[in-house]
Amino acid sequence: MTDAARFGARRTARPDVLIVGAGIVGAACALARAREELDVLIVDASFAGSGSTAAAMGNLVVMDDTPAQLALTSFSRALWERMADELPPDCEYEMRGTLWVADNDDEMKAARAKQAVYAAHGVASTLVDAAELARMEPALRPGLAGALSVPGDGVLYPPNAARWCIERAVALGAVVREGCGAVALASGAVRVRGADGIEESISAGAIVIAAGIDAPRLAPELPIVPRKGHLVITDRYPGLCHAQLVELGYLRSAHGLSGESVAFNVQPRATGQLLIGSSRQLAGRDGAIDDAVLGAMVRRATSFLPALARCDVVRMWTGFRPATPDGLPLIGRWHAAPGVWIAAGHEGLGITTAPGTAALIAADILGRAAPIDPAPYDPGRAMRPASDATPGEHTCRAT
Ligand SMILES: Cc1cc2nc3c(=O)[nH]c(=O)nc-3n(C[C@H](O)[C@H](O)[C@H](O)COP(=O)(O)OP(=O)(O)OC[C@H]3O[C@@H](n4cnc5c(N)ncnc54)[C@H](O)[C@@H]3O)c2cc1C
Repeated sequence: MTDAARFGARRTARPDVLIVGAGIVGAACALARAREELDVLIVDASFAGSGSTAAAMGNLVVMDDTPAQLALTSFSRALWERMADELPPDCEYEMRGTLWVADNDDEMKAARAKQAVYAAHGVASTLVDAAELARMEPALRPGLAGALSVPGDGVLYPPNAARWCIERAVALGAVVREGCGAVALASGAVRVRGADGIEESISAGAIVIAAGIDAPRLAPELPIVPRKGHLVITDRYPGLCHAQLVELGYLRSAHGLSGESVAFNVQPRATGQLLIGSSRQLAGRDGAIDDAVLGAMVRRATSFLPALARCDVVRMWTGFRPATPDGLPLIGRWHAAPGVWIAAGHEGLGITTAPGTAALIAADILGRAAPIDPAPYDPGRAMRPASDATPGEHTCRAT
């Protein structure tokens, strides 16, 4: 068999763990398993960090839509923080903090409620009034009501973080086969096709499906749909803003699975560039730039950060979030196939929650106590749709 690329010296006929997909989730799973001295093989149809991971913004953020989301994001953010000293400079990890910007008094009330929830769960945050917000981020438009500052949120460069996890796993003995796609699940085994078109069956003690939006191709019952997003990156404007800036209206934009929405979300990168998001739409797998959505997103961003109108754009792109009906990822044993675990469906939080996902899967495979309650992420759970976007969401068609 020939693959586009293969890394790692050890190769057993039957690995302890076979991971399908080397995005951030599969890569984190590979690292967690290799750290346990298990024999790990990871296959990717393309190359490590190439899928949704390559398209993402890289905000490591605690979110509190539901208690389960809060538990997984805060646990995972702490794991990233613990790894921060090991991450090489090209992962661009920084603890920038998030400023949840309130447009008006109603949103300031929402900021207060959010702070109460964070405080109850030990997540540090501070309310910031209008004058303090203007001092912290002078480029924001005047007249905003204030913000909630969450100083522990981080930023990293997702594709390099995925590749780093893979390289660390390989250094610990894992084997990676790029250009090697899984074509079917069989009992205790996966049928794979190498870059030369030759197929083989690989059996493993445990199989982890971490194939993002493509996971349903292997397990068709998985309720994952691609949710498209646009991003724009500018030239270098160091110091134009300091924290990850997100409007509180983003929470409404991220809810539900229907409609198109945009929200103000700007991230200063270590390079001095500004990453501008965000949009959400269900558009199948059409990755073309949608001028109407992109225009609405940039106008929304410029309405909060007027200086963006003078910034040169270097690149714009789209990507797909692997979305589930209730907004929570699918993490755990797949009841339909013995010996198979699912780690997919992380929507817009997969970069943040990859290490927590890996820890949950590792604990289950090894029969250890889970680090947080795993029940809410059970892939076989009954799912109620997350509430749809409420009035006040910024729909693309209206702008
Ligand atoms: C615009 C945008 C912005 C985002 N911003 C953030 C953010 O700021 N913070 C955050 O936490 N998250 C963010 N996300 C979400 C994040 O990108 C995803 O949740 C995350 O990348 C999912 O990772 P994954 O490993 O599950 O999937 P992927 O990264 O898609 O990886 C899946 C891998 O599986 C491989 N694969 C697929 N099928 C097969 C097969 N049959 N055989 C072998 N290999 C296969 C693919 O080649 C791919 O490499 C954003 C997403 C988008 C689109």
